[in-house]
Amino acid sequence: MRKVLALPGHRFLFVQEDSGVLYMTVAAMQTDRGTGWFDQAVLFCPFCGTQLQTSEEIKGASRQP
Ligand SMILES: [Zn+2]
Repeated sequence: MRKVLALPGHRFLFVQEDSGVLYMTVAAMQTDRGTGWFDQAVLFCPFCGTQLQTSEEIKGASRQP
């Protein structure tokens, strides 16, 4: 499940709710089954440069059951 952040200029950032890791949609592609989205975990906000999370946090979240 995804929750899009309601911040102006941050429409492509979202939090994956099961892990709490912040991701950014980097590309979209039309496929036979609809629109495919390519997402990448982000360490720094691409808009303002603020550090959002660390790689250790992402690794830790992905290890959660
Ligand atoms: Zn920002």
